[in-house]
Amino acid sequence: MKYRDILYQDIAYVKGIGPDRAKLLNEELRIFTVFDLLNYFPFRYEDRSVIHNISSINYTIEYAQIKGHIVNIFTDRFVNKEVLIAQMKDATGKIDLVFFNGIKWLSKFLKIGKTYIAYGKVNQFRDTYNIQHPEIEEATEETLKFKAGWCAVYNTTERLKNSKWRIDTESIRKWIFNIYQQYPQLQIPENLSKEIIEKNQLISREQAYKWIHLPENKEQINKARARLKFEELFFAQLDIARQHKKMKLSKGYVFQNVGELFNEFYNKHLPFELTNAQKRVIKEIRNDTKTGRQMNRLLQGDVGSGKTIVAVFSALFAIDNGFQVAMMAPTEILAQQHFQNISKLLQSLPVNVKLLTGSTPNKERKLIHEQLLSNELHFLIGTHALIEDNVQFHKLGLVIIDEQHRFGVAQRAKIQLKSEPPPHVLVMTATPIPRTLAMTIYGDLDVSVLDELPPGRKPIVTAHRYYSKRMDVLQFVKDQIDAGRQAYFVFPLIQESEKMDLEDLEKGYEDLKRFFSEDKYKLVKVHGKMSNEEKEAAMQAFYKGEAQIMVATTVIEVGVDVPNASIMVIENANRFGLSQLHQLRGRVGRGSEKSYCILLTNNLSEDAKVRIETMVRTTNGFEISEVDLKLRGPGELAGTRQSGMLNFKIADLTTDYPILKAARESAIELLEKDENLQFPEHWPIREYILQNEKEKPLWIKIA
Ligand code: ADP
Ligand code: MG
Repeated sequence: MKYRDILYQDIAYVKGIGPDRAKLLNEELRIFTVFDLLNYFPFRYEDRSVIHNISSINYTIEYAQIKGHIVNIFTDRFVNKEVLIAQMKDATGKIDLVFFNGIKWLSKFLKIGKTYIAYGKVNQFRDTYNIQHPEIEEATEETLKFKAGWCAVYNTTERLKNSKWRIDTESIRKWIFNIYQQYPQLQIPENLSKEIIEKNQLISREQAYKWIHLPENKEQINKARARLKFEELFFAQLDIARQHKKMKLSKGYVFQNVGELFNEFYNKHLPFELTNAQKRVIKEIRNDTKTGRQMNRLLQGDVGSGKTIVAVFSALFAIDNGFQVAMMAPTEILAQQHFQNISKLLQSLPVNVKLLTGSTPNKERKLIHEQLLSNELHFLIGTHALIEDNVQFHKLGLVIIDEQHRFGVAQRAKIQLKSEPPPHVLVMTATPIPRTLAMTIYGDLDVSVLDELPPGRKPIVTAHRYYSKRMDVLQFVKDQIDAGRQAYFVFPLIQESEKMDLEDLEKGYEDLKRFFSEDKYKLVKVHGKMSNEEKEAAMQAFYKGEAQIMVATTVIEVGVDVPNASIMVIENANRFGLSQLHQLRGRVGRGSEKSYCILLTNNLSEDAKVRIETMVRTTNGFEISEVDLKLRGPGELAGTRQSGMLNFKIADLTTDYPILKAARESAIELLEKDENLQFPEHWPIREYILQNEKEKPLWIKIA
């Protein structure tokens, strides 16, 4: 058989599997071929290289492997649960093996006098040690040989374990062992070039597959992992880099001139001096939009870094050159607010700005549609209502997407279809993304960073208080309000428990009303279940300073901008995610007054403690996002879930940044040298890509 025939051989033919087990493996693990099984990587390893003397076991040994004969078996009760205890003895001593599950089966399987080999976690009980639910096997010559060195551990499913064959991690390891025995001519084709392998000090692909499953020592595991992670990240990065290159070549509109509108706004109406970061980014956008290529730029800037004004300048480039601009925000409130701010900024210029959201009345909507087609409308701001099919532009030159994390890649792709060539795209996000992720998710975009806050901002003081101190907190807020400030009280509102959360908010609102008596203070509330008019009225009262306190859910998370509001109290802060807390806190600290963010909680879980401590320690969004990534893993970060980009089989973006970086460099270098992978030394790479092309998710092709 040729190696390919072996790799794509049905697993039923592997020694020890057969058609029935094969069927179960098909169904449970989507394993069909020999190569599928080889691609089923272990998630950890056990060190079976040493057999410990029972007398040597103490707290310094975390996992122990022992060999001895069973001298006694009995059941006992442990915290009201029946346990099975088997005492094992070797030449040096005696120890208890404690089993909580499978008691019936074990009491039949284990025989007094027989020799077994056991492996498990060492547990201290008063001044003695025991081993809790160890793996245990008869110490035959074969098991002793098979159980030597480092043993791979595989995930299995309940259905596999409970099947009549009791398929567990050992079964899988055994089958993989059998594959290597059964097919000595087995080969796994290399998919990297010699140069890349050498430069990154990688082992061959074939060696990596052997060692990831059947290593002899720790070093082999590390080398196998490094190689397979690199490979996985390399192909992902190669894909992104090719996408990026293609994008850069796609034709775009030319914004020829910096025109009158831009100059007039800059010279006469700009309400403040731009920060250097803002100037730099505006220049980057200017350069992008005059080249004749389509701009795809991501603007990352922490909350309050002044992204809106960058958007306005970009819009003026477009309008000055006869193009229309669409700006899309994730929520109605945010769209309204952008509309108000931007209309105000541009009020003395001949620019027609309009708002289109789900609640725009039909008459107004009709007017907008007409004016878009006749090019009388220059700047349309709105929610995703903007990308509906019936919204047609005369000449859409620029699309600005605010708070990207709320939009999927597919939506970004859709709006590009609104004109031909596609409009320039500026994506703005206030959720700073750790470098690893930015390179992976947004690898197809050019990135600008606003890394400087406008001058005169006072740092926000963040404190954590337990509910036992709630009265002090309320008194503090009262003092601040009496000194002329405004305050937010934010309540968690999580989808699943919405009704209860809403009750909490209502109760909290009534409670606050008692403390802040109505004759002196005005409170408003805002949550998603209110009608738009009610919300709007409440918002307006707070903007205008008529209300001193706003009780709200996270609907205020993005965009709300009231500089005089300098205090935020976050109720049950432990229930919020880190990036959400950071976004919320960004609502204060926008004016010239010293600002406060108070996180109220009861007792904290370990994770919540890290979140709260991080918030208290830093206001740096990038630092916060790094912690968030560690806590939640990349798949859970806002907006990344739908990207499908983070489902790596072996690479882990929380820890593999150095490998990612090296893989990216190699990918970019390769494309510079041989874009179409035509050199013979790059054929293995091309071959591999072609073979995998079929399985690629759809969105990569459209994005
Ligand atoms: P972001 O959207 O990045 O969170 P905004 O664009 O809403 O931030 O700006 C935050 C606040 O800072 C706004 O009140 C805005 O008017 C103000 N601002 C923006 N740029 C500057 C600047 N260069 N100098 C002073 N204030 C600024
Ligand atoms: Mg903003």
